[in-house]
Amino acid sequence: MQTLRSFVAGGWHTATDGFVPLHDPSTEEEIARVSSVGVDFGESLQFARERGGPGLRSMSFAERGEAILGVSKALHAHRDELLELSMRDSGVTRKDAKFDVDGATGTLSYYAYLGREIGDRRILFDGEGTALGRSAKFWGRHASVPRQGVAVHINAFNFPAWGFAEKAAQAWLAGMPVITKPATSTAWVTERCAEIVIESGLLPVGALSIICGSTGDLLTRLGPQDVLAFTGSADTGNRLRSIPQLIERSVPVNIEADSLNATVLAPGVEEGSETWGLFLRDVTREITQKSGQKCTAVRRIFVPKDRVEAVRDALSEGLSNSVVGNPFDASVTMGALATASQLQDAIEGCAALETVAKRVYGTGARVDGAGSPAGKGWFFAPTLFEASDFREATVAHEREVFASVSTLLPYDGSAEEAMAGVALGGGTLVTSIYGNDEAWLQTALETGGCWSGRFYLGSEKMAEQALGSGLALPQCQHGGPGRAGGGAELGADRGLGLYMQKFALQGYRKLVDELK
Ligand code: NAP
Repeated sequence: MQTLRSFVAGGWHTATDGFVPLHDPSTEEEIARVSSVGVDFGESLQFARERGGPGLRSMSFAERGEAILGVSKALHAHRDELLELSMRDSGVTRKDAKFDVDGATGTLSYYAYLGREIGDRRILFDGEGTALGRSAKFWGRHASVPRQGVAVHINAFNFPAWGFAEKAAQAWLAGMPVITKPATSTAWVTERCAEIVIESGLLPVGALSIICGSTGDLLTRLGPQDVLAFTGSADTGNRLRSIPQLIERSVPVNIEADSLNATVLAPGVEEGSETWGLFLRDVTREITQKSGQKCTAVRRIFVPKDRVEAVRDALSEGLSNSVVGNPFDASVTMGALATASQLQDAIEGCAALETVAKRVYGTGARVDGAGSPAGKGWFFAPTLFEASDFREATVAHEREVFASVSTLLPYDGSAEEAMAGVALGGGTLVTSIYGNDEAWLQTALETGGCWSGRFYLGSEKMAEQALGSGLALPQCQHGGPGRAGGGAELGADRGLGLYMQKFALQGYRKLVDELK
C-alpha cells in the first residue's frame, strides 16, 4: 500500500497516523493512504517565503521560463507512468488521462515560452505609458513585481496534473513559490508530479511544496503578500474566501468554482451542415469526456423548439456509443466516477433533475462497468434530460451534477431568450454558441456576454480546426462570474497578475522609460 507524502520545508514528510484511504474507482480496491498529520504549516510557509521566493525573484522572466520548460520536459518524460497512474487513481480512460497530463505539460511549456518572450527583466510593464503634465516630461506608467509571499494552490480532484501545473506555471513565471494541495481522492498523480519536479532540481529550493491531506492551520497563517488560488466546488470556495484572517489581511483569493455551462444552438443551422455536425460532436464529447467530471462540461443545452426532437435523437445515438467501465479494458471509452460520494451525488442529482425534466436517455443510476467485477466500481452511464419550459426547470440551472448528465432546454430561437436562459445558471465558465448568423450572435453577446468567462463560437468556417468548448487553453482566460467563482486564471500574461503587485509609476519620462 502506497503512503503519500508531503514535501515541505525542503524535505519529505511521512505521517504516521490520521490516514484517509484512496481507492481505485473501477474496483474499489484500497490503493494508497493520505495524511498530513505532523506537518508544521508555519515552518512550511516560512521556508517557502524565505528560500523559494528570493530564489525565484533573483531570476529573470527568461530564466524562470527556461526552468519551467525543463519542468514540462521532465514531466513529459514520465508521461506513460503518469497516464497509467491516473487511470488507476482517478478511474479515467487513457485518452482522458492524456487530456489532464498533456494539458499540464502543454500549459507549462506555453508559460515557459512566454517567459522567453518577456525576456531578461524582473519588472513587468503594462503598456507604454502616458503624459501626465503639460508636456511629456512628467510621465505615468504601470508596472508589476512578484509578491513576496507564497502562492497556496488548492485543487479539485478532476485534474490532478493540469490543476497543479497550470497554477504553478503562472506563479513560478511571476516569481512566486508554490505550496500545492491536491484533492485527497486523486492526490497520488499530483504527488508523483511533485516528486518528478523536485527530483529534477530545476527550480530553486523552496519553489515547490506539496501537502497531501488536510491543510491544517495553513490558510489562517497567510499574510498580505501571499495568495490563495482555489479550484473546487462553490461551497468550499465560499467557505475559504470567508476565512476571517484572509479578509483582515486582504489576501488575494482567486476562486474557480463549479459552473452550469451552457451550449446554445442558434436558429438557422441546417441538419447535416458542418455547424450541425460540430455542435453534436462537441456536445457529445463535453458530456462524456472524463465521465462528465469536467468544470467546463456542458450541463445545459439550449435548442430552438423546432429542433429539439432532432437534437434529442442525434445526441442519444451519440451517447449510446459510450462503453462505460474499467479503463484498463480495451473496449472501454468512458471511465468511472472518482469516488463513491461522487456516484451518490450523481444519482441524487438525477433524481432532483427528474422533478423538473423528463429523462430521455440513460438510467440516472449506477451501472456495472465492462472489465470490472459485477457490483464493484463507481460507474455511471450518460444520462440526458429534457425540460418542456426552460424557465421552470430550476434544478437544471442550479444543481451541478458532476457526471455525464445534461439537460435539453427548448427556447423560442431568439438571442435574448437564449441568453436569458444562460443567465439562469448564475454565471458560467464557458458558454458555447453554434450558428453562422452574425447579427444573432451580436445580440446574444450584447445581452448576455456578462454571464460567462468565455464564449466558444462554433461555426462552419472554423469547424475543422475547432478544439471543443471544454478545453481551457493557456492563451485565453479561464474563470467566470458569479456561480463560477468570479475568478480568472490563464489568458497569457493576464494570468501572472494574481501573483504580482501592480503599481503606478509617476515621474520624469526618461527615468521611467529607462527602468527595465
Ligand atoms: P471540493 O470538495 O470543493 O474540494 C476542492 C479542494 O478543496 C480539495 O483539494 C479539497 O481537499 C479542498 N478543501 C475542502 N475543504 C477544505 C478546507 N476547509 N480547507 C482547505 N482545503 C479544503 O471540490 P472537488 O469535489 O474536489 O471538485 C469538484 C468540483 O470542482 C466541481 O464542482 C467542479 O465544477 C469544480 N471544478 C472547477 C474547476 C474550475 O476551473 N472552475 C475546475 C475543476 C473542478 P480534500 O479533497 O482533501 O477535501
